[in-house]
Amino acid sequence: MTNTAADLIIANASELVTCSLKGNAFEVINNGWLAISGERIVAVGKENAVAPLLDKNKTKLIDAAGKVVAPGFIDCHTHLVFGGSRVEEYTANLTGVDLVKLERKGLKTGIMATVEATRKASDTQLFQAALTRLNRMLASGTTTVESKSGYGLSTKDEIKMLEVNNLLKKSSPVDIVATFLGAHGWPNDLPRARYIDILINEMIPRVAELKLAEYCDIWCDHGYYSAEESEQILKAALDYGIKPKIHTDAYSYVGGSDLAADMKMVSADHLNYTPVAAMKKLKNSGVVGVLLPALDFAVQHQRPFDYLAMKEQGMTLALATNLCPGCWTESMQFVMVLACRLYKMSPAEALRAATIGGAKALNRESDYGSLETGKYADIQIWDVPKYEHVIYRLGDNVVEKVIKKGKLVVENPSFKTPDLSC
Ligand SMILES: [Zn+2]
Repeated sequence: MTNTAADLIIANASELVTCSLKGNAFEVINNGWLAISGERIVAVGKENAVAPLLDKNKTKLIDAAGKVVAPGFIDCHTHLVFGGSRVEEYTANLTGVDLVKLERKGLKTGIMATVEATRKASDTQLFQAALTRLNRMLASGTTTVESKSGYGLSTKDEIKMLEVNNLLKKSSPVDIVATFLGAHGWPNDLPRARYIDILINEMIPRVAELKLAEYCDIWCDHGYYSAEESEQILKAALDYGIKPKIHTDAYSYVGGSDLAADMKMVSADHLNYTPVAAMKKLKNSGVVGVLLPALDFAVQHQRPFDYLAMKEQGMTLALATNLCPGCWTESMQFVMVLACRLYKMSPAEALRAATIGGAKALNRESDYGSLETGKYADIQIWDVPKYEHVIYRLGDNVVEKVIKKGKLVVENPSFKTPDLSC
């Protein structure tokens, strides 16, 4: 055999789902094969296209008979790094316990509770808690994660969170995309105008100097930052080469999605109150809409986002977990279940949004998000025969193996049904 032999070949997949954006059809290759050399995919298709790269002396082989092969999930909106939990608040909300009474007893609630816990935690504690969550995400098929700061709300604590991101990058096979979200809120002890001044003149220059974030994000909504303030802060970040993203229209419409379109941001996230005219603008400006069904579910949102309207406008859409203390899920599979059952996404649309859609929302679609020659070999193998099982098996983890940049990094125990015939 020549030196073109592959390092790893996945053979005989019951379904190989490419999530390629070429053509309109959702591509499913039955009896699919895929070859990897180094970190990249070098061939995808039927046996005849891939088997010539097999060298029995060099190539490792994974038999995927009866299984689904899909791209790793790209979770493009998370608050992965945080201190503590808000489990008491979450359960109190479920059972109708009065939060004001709990607060009088000393229980902290909302984002400020997490800010306090995050400030108190050492970098090692933050790192270890985040790494545990990241490992669970990887074991559930996620191979790229966007991770925001935003629970520090001071220069020191925001930098601490972003440095934890850097440490995670070195400690996990998962790719981490870092986002500075100092404008997640503002501290109780500072006037908002003063905090905006600190964001623009202290935090953003420091984050840029230390090269700690690729994106700058903001919460643009009624009661948070206005569209004008968002523009001012995000443009200041852009001056330092940190690209804008936005949390917007989650609880009101104050023009954040129009700003996303005007600034040609990579993504606009939440979009519960986005009017159709703004959806059109997002579509025309190439802004990806990032949809967060688990957040709507966790807060029992009074106005869930309107997937079908966004689809009708032709928007490019992505799904993400929004993992945070108020919406604690590490599973993109759970997010897909909700997207299909509650928002009428098809399983194919949900899978595309959870892979190549997420890659587009992070401007990484040329290297990530689909199984195509030349892209990174970020792959998951599901122990089910058809891809629709991922949204059909409620609360299950169908992932058997995860390959990250060509290396097998997860091998989950397989829960096979015992043969009861004998
Ligand atoms: Zn968020």
